[in-house]
Amino acid sequence: MESHIRPTSARHLTGDTYVVPSLTNSGFIDGLVIDTCEDEAAFLDVPVDRLAITHGHADHFAIGHVLRAAGARVFAARDDASMVENPDINIRGMFSWANPGDFLVTKLFQGVPCRVDDYIENWDDPRASAIALPGHTMGHYGFLSRDGVLFTGDALYLRPLWERHPLPYSIDPGMVVSSLEKIREVDCTWIVPGHGAPTPRDQAEADIDHHIAQIREIEELLLDRLKIEQTTEGAIALTSAARGLTENPAAYWLAVATVKGFLGELLNRGDIEFFVRDHAGWWRTVR
Ligand SMILES: [Zn+2]
Repeated sequence: MESHIRPTSARHLTGDTYVVPSLTNSGFIDGLVIDTCEDEAAFLDVPVDRLAITHGHADHFAIGHVLRAAGARVFAARDDASMVENPDINIRGMFSWANPGDFLVTKLFQGVPCRVDDYIENWDDPRASAIALPGHTMGHYGFLSRDGVLFTGDALYLRPLWERHPLPYSIDPGMVVSSLEKIREVDCTWIVPGHGAPTPRDQAEADIDHHIAQIREIEELLLDRLKIEQTTEGAIALTSAARGLTENPAAYWLAVATVKGFLGELLNRGDIEFFVRDHAGWWRTVR
């Protein structure tokens, strides 16, 4: 698609690749959009033929339905497409499929549904290639533009973001580390995270190292503190306190998923064990 109309706030990175900086960054490559910002005015009268959604969290497709209504074909991964089409699925999943009601739910998971036209697994587009980066969600993808800009969604948290998110949401920390190592191998000149500033690739090396180090630190914390057995609730509380989370229902329920992700990982490695006592679930480091 040849057009020189671009989002008003687009910042040029290199070649045909632009970023629309926002709470959630949006990529723009010659009519291809990668994730969306919240402000539909940014894309007013901008021809968009394709929208790629890195993962099924509502803050990454806030105006997806608007772009689709204007003619864009929407792509999401098979594993995350249902969360894009029905954000309630993510909310239900967080609460073991029961209905938590609005009070408990992070704003980041609440959004307007967006129909998905095709799966990223069928991706074939010269403007960018899709790279599977699971761990934050099952079907998380990054996109590498033909100009060498890697859009990493929420697979990589840059150092400044850790101050606000000391326990970033993830469902599988082992997968997060593998995906970070995959990001490290990608030949690119820029990294654009879902949240935070576009970063030259050479500077991002320290961010990749930092993210992996934080995951190892949380694992070590659990292995150390579970030398004295803890309930699931106790493990969530001690991790949240050690990481300095703010205390509110939305933050708590996000931490539940993330800490369970760590517990599952350590259990599968044989580093901790699980048992039921007094009708509560307990975890203990294997000596
Ligand atoms: Zn996310």
